[in-house]
Amino acid sequence: MIVMKFDAASIGSHDRLRAVARLVQQHKGKKPVVVTSALPKVTDLLLEAADLAAARQSDYEDRVQEVKALHELVVEDLLPDGPGRRRFSSHLKDLLEELRVYYKAVYALAELTPRTRDAIAAIGERLSSELVAEALSQGGLRAETIDARTVILTDDKFGAASPLMAEIAPRLKLKMKPMLGTGQVPVIGGYMGATREGVTTTLGRGGADATAAVIGALLDAEEIQIWGEVDGFMTVDPKLAPDALAIPRVTPDEAAELTYFGSKVLHPAMIRPAVDKGIPVRIGDSREPALPGTVITATADLGPSGPCAVACRKGITVVLLSTPRMLMATGFLRQVFEVFERHDTPVDLIATSEVSISLTVDDPKHLPAVREELAPLGDVQVLGDMAIVSVIGRGFVRHPGLAARVFAAIRDVNVVMISFGASDVNVSFVVAEGDAERAVRALHREFFEAAATAPLAAAAADATARVH
Ligand code: ASP
Ligand code: MG
Repeated sequence: MIVMKFDAASIGSHDRLRAVARLVQQHKGKKPVVVTSALPKVTDLLLEAADLAAARQSDYEDRVQEVKALHELVVEDLLPDGPGRRRFSSHLKDLLEELRVYYKAVYALAELTPRTRDAIAAIGERLSSELVAEALSQGGLRAETIDARTVILTDDKFGAASPLMAEIAPRLKLKMKPMLGTGQVPVIGGYMGATREGVTTTLGRGGADATAAVIGALLDAEEIQIWGEVDGFMTVDPKLAPDALAIPRVTPDEAAELTYFGSKVLHPAMIRPAVDKGIPVRIGDSREPALPGTVITATADLGPSGPCAVACRKGITVVLLSTPRMLMATGFLRQVFEVFERHDTPVDLIATSEVSISLTVDDPKHLPAVREELAPLGDVQVLGDMAIVSVIGRGFVRHPGLAARVFAAIRDVNVVMISFGASDVNVSFVVAEGDAERAVRALHREFFEAAATAPLAAAAADATARVH
Protein backbone atom coordinates (compact mmCIF):
# COMPACT_ATOMS: atom_id res chain seq x y z
CA MET A 1 0.00 0.00 0.00
CA ILE A 2 0.99 3.64 -0.20
CA VAL A 3 0.02 6.75 1.76
CA MET A 4 -0.93 9.91 -0.14
CA LYS A 5 -1.03 13.02 2.02
CA PHE A 6 -2.43 16.28 0.66
CA ASP A 7 -1.69 19.66 2.15
CA ALA A 8 -4.18 22.49 2.46
CA ALA A 9 -3.32 24.16 -0.86
CA SER A 10 -3.76 20.88 -2.75
CA ILE A 11 -7.41 20.68 -1.67
CA GLY A 12 -8.18 24.40 -1.64
CA SER A 13 -10.59 24.57 -4.60
CA HIS A 14 -12.84 22.37 -6.70
CA ASP A 15 -10.18 22.21 -9.47
CA ARG A 16 -7.51 21.16 -7.06
CA LEU A 17 -9.78 18.54 -5.50
CA ARG A 18 -10.56 17.12 -8.93
CA ALA A 19 -6.84 16.95 -9.63
CA VAL A 20 -6.38 15.12 -6.31
CA ALA A 21 -9.06 12.62 -7.32
CA ARG A 22 -7.28 12.01 -10.64
CA LEU A 23 -3.96 11.55 -8.89
CA VAL A 24 -5.42 9.06 -6.42
CA GLN A 25 -7.13 7.28 -9.31
CA GLN A 26 -3.74 6.93 -11.06
CA HIS A 27 -2.31 5.28 -7.95
CA LYS A 28 -5.34 3.12 -7.27
CA GLY A 29 -3.49 -0.11 -8.06
CA LYS A 30 -1.07 0.61 -5.23
CA LYS A 31 -3.82 0.69 -2.60
CA PRO A 32 -3.63 4.28 -1.40
CA VAL A 33 -4.66 5.56 2.01
CA VAL A 34 -5.40 9.29 1.75
CA VAL A 35 -4.43 11.64 4.57
CA THR A 36 -5.56 15.23 4.41
CA SER A 37 -4.88 18.62 5.99
CA ALA A 38 -7.63 21.15 6.62
CA LEU A 39 -8.63 23.58 3.85
CA PRO A 40 -6.31 26.60 3.46
CA LYS A 41 -6.52 29.11 6.35
CA VAL A 42 -9.01 26.98 8.28
CA THR A 43 -6.77 25.85 11.17
CA ASP A 44 -5.58 29.43 11.66
CA LEU A 45 -9.14 30.77 11.62
CA LEU A 46 -10.35 28.17 14.11
CA LEU A 47 -7.54 28.96 16.53
CA GLU A 48 -7.86 32.74 16.09
CA ALA A 49 -11.54 32.47 16.90
CA ALA A 50 -10.68 30.46 20.01
CA ASP A 51 -8.32 33.20 21.19
CA LEU A 52 -10.96 35.85 20.51
CA ALA A 53 -13.59 33.94 22.45
CA ALA A 54 -11.19 33.53 25.37
CA ALA A 55 -10.62 37.29 25.30
CA ARG A 56 -14.40 37.70 25.39
CA GLN A 57 -14.60 39.19 21.93
CA SER A 58 -17.77 38.10 20.25
CA ASP A 59 -16.40 38.66 16.75
CA TYR A 60 -15.11 35.11 16.88
CA GLU A 61 -18.37 34.46 15.04
CA ASP A 62 -16.93 36.24 11.95
CA ARG A 63 -14.24 33.57 11.79
CA VAL A 64 -16.85 30.84 12.05
CA GLN A 65 -18.69 32.41 9.12
CA GLU A 66 -15.46 32.49 7.18
CA VAL A 67 -14.80 28.81 7.83
CA LYS A 68 -18.31 28.06 6.67
CA ALA A 69 -17.94 30.17 3.52
CA LEU A 70 -14.60 28.62 2.60
CA HIS A 71 -16.13 25.15 2.60
CA GLU A 72 -19.31 26.20 0.86
CA LEU A 73 -17.38 27.87 -1.90
CA VAL A 74 -15.51 24.68 -2.74
CA VAL A 75 -18.55 22.44 -2.44
CA GLU A 76 -20.70 24.57 -4.70
CA ASP A 77 -18.44 23.98 -7.68
CA LEU A 78 -17.37 20.48 -6.75
CA LEU A 79 -20.54 18.60 -5.97
CA PRO A 80 -23.72 18.65 -8.04
CA ASP A 81 -27.02 18.84 -6.23
CA GLY A 82 -27.46 15.31 -4.96
CA PRO A 83 -26.70 12.92 -2.11
CA GLY A 84 -22.99 13.82 -1.91
CA ARG A 85 -23.66 17.51 -1.54
CA ARG A 86 -26.43 16.87 0.98
CA ARG A 87 -24.17 14.61 3.03
CA PHE A 88 -21.43 17.17 3.17
CA SER A 89 -23.78 20.06 3.93
CA SER A 90 -25.25 18.24 6.86
CA HIS A 91 -21.75 17.47 8.16
CA LEU A 92 -20.83 21.09 7.83
CA LYS A 93 -23.92 22.16 9.70
CA ASP A 94 -23.33 19.67 12.53
CA LEU A 95 -19.67 20.51 12.95
CA LEU A 96 -20.27 24.26 12.93
CA GLU A 97 -22.84 23.74 15.62
CA GLU A 98 -20.37 21.70 17.66
CA LEU A 99 -17.80 24.43 17.11
CA ARG A 100 -20.13 27.14 18.39
CA VAL A 101 -20.76 25.11 21.54
CA TYR A 102 -17.01 25.11 22.20
CA TYR A 103 -16.63 28.81 21.50
CA LYS A 104 -19.58 29.69 23.70
CA ALA A 105 -18.06 27.73 26.57
CA VAL A 106 -14.67 29.38 26.06
CA TYR A 107 -16.33 32.78 25.91
CA ALA A 108 -18.47 32.18 29.00
CA LEU A 109 -15.50 30.99 31.05
CA ALA A 110 -12.93 33.32 29.44
CA GLU A 111 -10.67 30.33 29.54
CA LEU A 112 -9.07 28.34 26.74
CA THR A 113 -7.33 25.14 27.79
CA PRO A 114 -5.00 23.19 25.48
CA ARG A 115 -7.56 20.42 25.53
CA THR A 116 -10.31 22.69 24.24
CA ARG A 117 -7.98 24.19 21.62
CA ASP A 118 -7.42 20.71 20.22
CA ALA A 119 -11.13 19.91 20.05
CA ILE A 120 -11.56 23.16 18.13
CA ALA A 121 -8.55 22.77 15.83
CA ALA A 122 -9.51 19.21 14.85
CA ILE A 123 -12.74 20.48 13.28
CA GLY A 124 -10.68 21.60 10.26
CA GLU A 125 -9.57 18.08 9.36
CA ARG A 126 -12.88 16.55 10.41
CA LEU A 127 -14.47 18.72 7.73
CA SER A 128 -11.82 18.42 5.05
CA SER A 129 -11.65 14.63 5.26
CA GLU A 130 -15.36 14.43 4.47
CA LEU A 131 -14.88 16.85 1.60
CA VAL A 132 -11.95 14.95 0.14
CA ALA A 133 -13.87 11.66 0.39
CA GLU A 134 -16.76 13.24 -1.54
CA ALA A 135 -14.32 14.53 -4.16
CA LEU A 136 -12.82 11.07 -4.58
CA SER A 137 -16.27 9.48 -4.86
CA GLN A 138 -17.18 12.11 -7.40
CA GLY A 139 -14.04 11.06 -9.29
CA GLY A 140 -15.23 7.46 -9.45
CA LEU A 141 -13.38 5.99 -6.46
CA ARG A 142 -14.95 4.11 -3.59
CA ALA A 143 -13.77 6.39 -0.82
CA GLU A 144 -14.74 6.19 2.82
CA THR A 145 -13.70 8.40 5.73
CA ILE A 146 -12.24 6.99 8.90
CA ASP A 147 -12.43 9.22 11.96
CA ALA A 148 -8.78 9.67 12.97
CA ARG A 149 -9.86 9.81 16.59
CA THR A 150 -10.84 6.15 16.46
CA VAL A 151 -7.41 4.97 15.25
CA ILE A 152 -4.68 7.53 15.94
CA LEU A 153 -4.41 7.07 19.70
CA THR A 154 -2.06 9.49 21.42
CA ASP A 155 -0.86 10.53 24.83
CA ASP A 156 -2.61 13.50 26.43
CA LYS A 157 -0.03 16.17 25.66
CA PHE A 158 -2.62 18.44 24.07
CA GLY A 159 -1.29 20.56 21.24
CA ALA A 160 1.73 18.30 20.72
CA ALA A 161 0.48 14.79 21.36
CA SER A 162 2.60 11.74 20.52
CA PRO A 163 1.03 8.83 18.66
CA LEU A 164 0.95 5.55 20.63
CA MET A 165 2.28 3.27 17.93
CA ALA A 166 1.54 -0.03 19.64
CA GLU A 167 -2.11 0.89 20.07
CA ILE A 168 -2.55 2.39 16.65
CA ALA A 169 -1.20 -0.65 14.79
CA PRO A 170 -4.05 -3.10 15.56
CA ARG A 171 -6.65 -0.41 14.93
CA LEU A 172 -5.21 0.42 11.53
CA LYS A 173 -5.09 -3.23 10.60
CA LEU A 174 -8.65 -3.77 11.70
CA LYS A 175 -10.10 -0.72 9.96
CA MET A 176 -7.93 -0.05 6.94
CA LYS A 177 -6.61 -3.42 5.81
CA PRO A 178 -10.05 -4.82 4.86
CA MET A 179 -10.91 -1.64 2.99
CA LEU A 180 -7.67 -1.76 1.03
CA GLY A 181 -8.31 -5.41 0.28
CA THR A 182 -11.59 -4.62 -1.43
CA GLY A 183 -10.32 -1.64 -3.40
CA GLN A 184 -11.82 1.01 -1.14
CA VAL A 185 -9.85 4.20 -0.47
CA PRO A 186 -9.73 5.14 3.22
CA VAL A 187 -9.60 8.91 3.79
CA ILE A 188 -8.43 10.14 7.17
CA GLY A 189 -7.96 13.63 8.55
CA GLY A 190 -4.35 14.23 9.52
CA TYR A 191 -3.07 16.19 12.53
CA MET A 192 -5.63 14.89 15.02
CA GLY A 193 -6.06 11.89 17.25
CA ALA A 194 -7.53 11.04 20.61
CA THR A 195 -6.44 9.79 23.99
CA ARG A 196 -7.36 6.29 25.13
CA GLU A 197 -10.37 7.90 26.82
CA GLY A 198 -11.48 9.37 23.50
CA VAL A 199 -10.55 12.99 24.15
CA THR A 200 -9.54 14.79 20.95
CA THR A 201 -5.84 15.72 20.61
CA THR A 202 -3.64 17.26 17.93
CA LEU A 203 -0.09 16.37 16.95
CA GLY A 204 1.12 19.96 16.57
CA ARG A 205 0.96 22.38 13.64
CA GLY A 206 1.88 20.72 10.38
CA GLY A 207 0.94 17.43 12.03
CA ALA A 208 -0.83 15.93 9.03
CA ASP A 209 2.61 14.82 7.79
CA ALA A 210 3.04 12.96 11.08
CA THR A 211 -0.26 11.13 10.58
CA ALA A 212 0.90 10.04 7.13
CA ALA A 213 4.22 8.80 8.52
CA VAL A 214 2.57 6.87 11.35
CA ILE A 215 0.14 5.12 9.02
CA GLY A 216 2.83 4.39 6.43
CA ALA A 217 5.20 3.02 9.03
CA LEU A 218 2.62 0.78 10.68
CA LEU A 219 1.13 -0.57 7.45
CA ASP A 220 4.57 -1.07 5.88
CA ALA A 221 3.88 1.30 3.02
CA GLU A 222 5.89 1.00 -0.13
CA GLU A 223 6.08 4.79 -0.17
CA ILE A 224 4.62 7.81 1.58
CA GLN A 225 3.75 10.66 -0.76
CA ILE A 226 3.51 14.17 0.64
CA TRP A 227 1.73 16.34 -1.92
CA GLY A 228 1.97 20.10 -1.54
CA GLU A 229 2.98 23.16 -3.48
CA VAL A 230 6.74 22.74 -3.56
CA ASP A 231 8.91 20.90 -6.07
CA GLY A 232 10.71 19.27 -3.17
CA PHE A 233 14.06 20.26 -1.70
CA MET A 234 16.08 22.59 -3.92
CA THR A 235 19.83 22.96 -4.47
CA VAL A 236 19.48 26.61 -3.41
CA ASP A 237 16.71 29.02 -2.51
CA PRO A 238 15.38 30.02 -5.98
CA LYS A 239 15.10 33.59 -4.71
CA LEU A 240 18.89 33.66 -4.33
CA ALA A 241 19.86 31.85 -7.51
CA PRO A 242 17.52 31.35 -10.45
CA ASP A 243 19.34 28.19 -11.51
CA ALA A 244 18.06 26.26 -8.50
CA LEU A 245 17.43 22.58 -9.23
CA ALA A 246 15.22 20.11 -7.41
CA ILE A 247 17.26 17.53 -5.47
CA PRO A 248 16.09 14.05 -6.44
CA ARG A 249 17.09 12.31 -3.19
CA VAL A 250 18.10 13.43 0.28
CA THR A 251 18.84 11.64 3.51
CA PRO A 252 16.84 12.55 6.60
CA ASP A 253 19.96 14.30 7.95
CA GLU A 254 20.28 16.43 4.85
CA ALA A 255 16.57 17.19 5.04
CA ALA A 256 17.06 18.32 8.65
CA GLU A 257 19.93 20.61 7.61
CA LEU A 258 17.84 22.11 4.83
CA THR A 259 14.98 22.67 7.23
CA TYR A 260 17.25 24.52 9.63
CA PHE A 261 18.22 26.77 6.75
CA GLY A 262 14.63 27.69 6.14
CA SER A 263 13.32 25.11 3.71
CA LYS A 264 9.60 24.88 4.32
CA VAL A 265 9.24 21.59 2.49
CA LEU A 266 8.53 19.53 5.58
CA HIS A 267 9.73 19.15 9.13
CA PRO A 268 11.82 15.96 9.29
CA ALA A 269 10.74 15.24 12.89
CA MET A 270 7.21 14.73 11.57
CA ILE A 271 8.21 11.80 9.40
CA ARG A 272 10.48 10.09 11.93
CA PRO A 273 8.42 6.88 12.19
CA ALA A 274 8.72 6.36 8.44
CA VAL A 275 12.41 7.22 8.34
CA ASP A 276 13.12 4.82 11.18
CA LYS A 277 11.51 2.00 9.23
CA GLY A 278 13.34 2.90 6.03
CA ILE A 279 10.17 3.84 4.16
CA PRO A 280 10.83 6.39 1.42
CA VAL A 281 8.95 9.67 1.71
CA ARG A 282 8.32 11.38 -1.60
CA ILE A 283 7.67 15.12 -1.74
CA GLY A 284 5.70 16.22 -4.77
CA ASP A 285 3.92 19.25 -6.20
CA SER A 286 0.24 18.43 -6.61
CA ARG A 287 0.01 21.05 -9.37
CA GLU A 288 2.74 19.27 -11.35
CA PRO A 289 2.49 15.67 -10.21
CA ALA A 290 4.58 14.41 -13.12
CA LEU A 291 7.70 16.22 -11.85
CA PRO A 292 10.01 13.91 -9.95
CA GLY A 293 10.07 15.88 -6.66
CA THR A 294 12.40 14.77 -3.88
CA VAL A 295 12.56 11.42 -2.12
CA ILE A 296 13.74 11.37 1.48
CA THR A 297 15.33 8.01 1.94
CA ALA A 298 17.85 6.15 4.06
CA THR A 299 21.45 6.34 2.90
CA ALA A 300 21.48 2.83 1.43
CA ASP A 301 19.27 3.82 -1.49
CA LEU A 302 21.16 6.95 -2.31
CA GLY A 303 23.45 7.34 -5.25
CA PRO A 304 26.92 8.88 -5.01
CA SER A 305 27.73 11.18 -2.14
CA GLY A 306 28.70 14.83 -2.44
CA PRO A 307 27.09 18.23 -2.14
CA CYS A 308 23.34 18.42 -2.60
CA ALA A 309 22.54 22.03 -1.74
CA VAL A 310 23.84 25.44 -0.73
CA ALA A 311 21.90 27.30 1.92
CA CYS A 312 22.19 30.30 4.16
CA ARG A 313 20.61 31.64 7.27
CA LYS A 314 20.79 35.28 8.25
CA GLY A 315 20.27 37.04 11.56
CA ILE A 316 22.99 35.05 13.27
CA THR A 317 25.02 36.29 16.21
CA VAL A 318 28.53 35.02 16.89
CA VAL A 319 29.80 34.81 20.46
CA LEU A 320 33.58 34.63 20.91
CA LEU A 321 35.03 33.67 24.24
CA SER A 322 38.76 33.61 24.75
CA THR A 323 40.70 32.84 27.87
CA PRO A 324 44.09 31.37 28.72
CA ARG A 325 42.28 29.39 31.44
CA MET A 326 40.93 27.06 28.81
CA LEU A 327 44.37 25.72 27.95
CA MET A 328 44.55 22.07 29.10
CA ALA A 329 41.56 22.54 31.36
CA THR A 330 38.73 20.05 31.66
CA GLY A 331 35.12 20.99 32.23
CA PHE A 332 35.53 24.39 30.69
CA LEU A 333 33.20 23.80 27.73
CA ARG A 334 30.61 22.38 30.08
CA GLN A 335 30.63 25.61 32.09
CA VAL A 336 30.22 27.63 28.92
CA PHE A 337 27.32 25.57 27.61
CA GLU A 338 25.59 25.55 30.95
CA VAL A 339 25.31 29.31 30.69
CA PHE A 340 23.54 28.98 27.35
CA GLU A 341 21.30 26.26 28.71
CA ARG A 342 20.31 28.31 31.74
CA HIS A 343 19.20 31.08 29.42
CA ASP A 344 17.35 28.82 27.00
CA THR A 345 19.57 29.84 24.11
CA PRO A 346 20.33 27.09 21.58
CA VAL A 347 23.81 27.07 20.07
CA ASP A 348 24.20 26.04 16.43
CA LEU A 349 27.79 26.10 15.16
CA ILE A 350 30.84 25.74 17.34
CA ALA A 351 34.55 26.10 16.69
CA THR A 352 37.21 25.83 19.36
CA SER A 353 40.93 26.35 19.71
CA GLU A 354 43.08 25.82 22.79
CA VAL A 355 42.26 29.19 24.23
CA SER A 356 39.05 30.28 22.57
CA ILE A 357 35.62 29.16 21.58
CA SER A 358 33.33 30.68 18.95
CA LEU A 359 29.72 29.77 18.61
CA THR A 360 26.62 30.98 16.84
CA VAL A 361 23.23 31.79 18.23
CA ASP A 362 20.01 32.29 16.32
CA ASP A 363 17.98 34.07 18.88
CA PRO A 364 19.87 36.84 20.67
CA LYS A 365 17.05 37.61 23.12
CA HIS A 366 18.90 36.38 26.18
CA LEU A 367 22.38 37.29 25.02
CA PRO A 368 22.89 40.22 27.40
CA ALA A 369 22.32 37.85 30.33
CA VAL A 370 24.48 35.16 28.73
CA ARG A 371 27.23 37.66 28.17
CA GLU A 372 27.16 38.77 31.76
CA GLU A 373 27.51 35.21 33.02
CA LEU A 374 30.25 34.39 30.56
CA ALA A 375 32.30 37.41 31.57
CA PRO A 376 33.95 35.73 34.58
CA LEU A 377 35.05 32.85 32.30
CA GLY A 378 37.01 34.98 29.85
CA ASP A 379 37.00 37.76 27.34
CA VAL A 380 33.65 37.92 25.51
CA GLN A 381 32.93 39.47 22.13
CA VAL A 382 29.58 39.48 20.36
CA LEU A 383 29.28 39.99 16.59
CA GLY A 384 25.79 40.67 15.26
CA ASP A 385 24.38 40.69 11.69
CA MET A 386 26.15 37.53 10.65
CA ALA A 387 24.99 34.69 8.38
CA ILE A 388 25.72 30.99 8.24
CA VAL A 389 26.43 29.71 4.74
CA SER A 390 26.41 25.98 4.34
CA VAL A 391 27.20 23.43 1.66
CA ILE A 392 25.04 20.45 2.53
CA GLY A 393 25.64 16.89 1.41
CA ARG A 394 27.02 13.54 2.48
CA GLY A 395 30.45 12.03 2.72
CA PHE A 396 32.36 15.29 2.70
CA VAL A 397 35.19 13.98 4.82
CA ARG A 398 35.74 11.25 2.26
CA HIS A 399 36.23 13.57 -0.68
CA PRO A 400 39.70 15.03 -1.08
CA GLY A 401 39.64 18.48 -2.57
CA LEU A 402 36.09 19.34 -1.66
CA ALA A 403 36.95 21.80 1.10
CA ALA A 404 39.45 23.41 -1.26
CA ARG A 405 36.73 23.93 -3.85
CA VAL A 406 34.41 25.40 -1.23
CA PHE A 407 36.94 27.94 -0.06
CA ALA A 408 38.29 28.69 -3.51
CA ALA A 409 34.77 29.57 -4.61
CA ILE A 410 34.45 32.16 -1.85
CA ARG A 411 38.02 33.38 -1.87
CA ASP A 412 37.04 37.04 -1.86
CA VAL A 413 34.56 36.73 1.02
CA ASN A 414 35.75 37.27 4.57
CA VAL A 415 35.06 34.13 6.64
CA VAL A 416 34.57 34.67 10.37
CA MET A 417 34.22 31.06 11.52
CA ILE A 418 34.22 27.54 10.04
CA SER A 419 32.56 24.31 11.12
CA PHE A 420 33.40 21.15 9.23
CA GLY A 421 33.36 17.44 9.87
CA ALA A 422 30.89 17.36 12.73
CA SER A 423 28.24 15.23 11.07
CA ASP A 424 29.71 14.69 7.66
CA VAL A 425 26.64 16.34 6.20
CA ASN A 426 27.83 19.87 5.76
CA VAL A 427 30.56 22.45 5.59
CA SER A 428 29.31 25.59 7.29
CA PHE A 429 30.90 28.95 7.79
CA VAL A 430 29.96 32.33 9.08
CA VAL A 431 30.21 35.54 7.05
CA ALA A 432 28.84 39.04 7.46
CA GLU A 433 25.20 39.18 6.43
CA GLY A 434 26.03 41.51 3.56
CA ASP A 435 28.37 38.90 2.04
CA ALA A 436 26.03 35.93 2.40
CA GLU A 437 24.19 36.04 -0.91
CA ARG A 438 27.38 36.52 -2.88
CA ALA A 439 28.88 33.49 -1.14
CA VAL A 440 25.77 31.38 -1.79
CA ARG A 441 25.73 32.27 -5.48
CA ALA A 442 29.44 31.58 -5.87
CA LEU A 443 29.07 28.16 -4.24
CA HIS A 444 26.00 27.25 -6.23
CA ARG A 445 27.86 28.14 -9.39
CA GLU A 446 30.85 26.07 -8.33
CA PHE A 447 28.94 22.90 -7.51
CA PHE A 448 25.72 22.97 -9.49
CA GLU A 449 25.95 25.30 -12.45
CA ALA A 450 29.47 25.06 -13.82
CA ALA A 451 29.69 21.37 -12.89
CA ALA A 452 28.92 20.14 -16.38
CA THR A 453 31.69 22.14 -18.05
CA ALA A 454 34.47 22.61 -15.50
CA PRO A 455 37.25 20.03 -15.33
CA LEU A 456 36.13 17.75 -12.54
CA ALA A 457 37.88 16.23 -9.61
CA ALA A 458 36.57 12.91 -8.35
CA ALA A 459 34.42 14.61 -5.78
CA ALA A 460 32.93 16.91 -8.32
CA ALA A 461 32.13 14.04 -10.66
CA ASP A 462 30.28 12.43 -7.79
CA ALA A 463 28.42 15.60 -7.06
CA THR A 464 27.43 15.96 -10.69
CA ALA A 465 26.25 12.39 -10.91
CA ARG A 466 24.16 13.07 -7.89
CA VAL A 467 22.61 16.22 -9.21
CA HIS A 468 21.72 14.99 -12.68
N1 ASP B 1 -4.09 21.73 9.52
C1 ASP B 1 -2.97 21.60 10.42
C2 ASP B 1 -2.14 22.86 10.40
O1 ASP B 1 -2.44 23.81 9.69
C3 ASP B 1 -2.16 20.40 10.18
C4 ASP B 1 -1.50 20.29 8.82
O2 ASP B 1 -1.94 20.89 7.86
O3 ASP B 1 -0.51 19.56 8.72
O4 ASP B 1 -1.18 22.96 11.13
MG1 MG C 1 2.53 21.03 5.89
